Amino acid sequence: MSRDCIFCKIVARQIPAEIVFEDERILAFNDINPQAPVHILIIPKKHIERLSDLHPSDKDLMAEIIFKAKQLAEDKGIAERGYRLVINNNKDAGQAVFHLHFHLIGGRKLTWPPG
Ligand code: AMP
Ligand code: ZN
Repeated sequence: MSRDCIFCKIVARQIPAEIVFEDERILAFNDINPQAPVHILIIPKKHIERLSDLHPSDKDLMAEIIFKAKQLAEDKGIAERGYRLVINNNKDAGQAVFHLHFHLIGGRKLTWPPG
């Protein structure tokens, strides 16, 4: 746990969130400022600051998160229409929270390219 990290605090239940899935290594919760009808953040419970900091030993954890995104999209009924799984890495991408998170976004037509 990293002190002053809001997502670590959500993992530790020190601040509230609408949790949609949890297991030993992963937490998924609704984004507080949703950009689409479905906007879920899926995070590793352990504090990894950004994609750039991934270690080869995190491979299985990342695969678990991607499969969980696939499953949550099916559960939310957006799999067939389509959805996006996004990681913002560092400043130019607009990363605001420095605890690695995957945005699962769907339920509306999404534009491309992103801004
Ligand atoms: P990013 O720009 O990729 O770092 O995205 C950070 C995301 O975290 C944004 O979509 C925020 O709306 C979301 N967010 C920030 N604080 C919270 C919170 N306490 N609970 C849920 N989502 C949050
Ligand atoms: Zn953290």
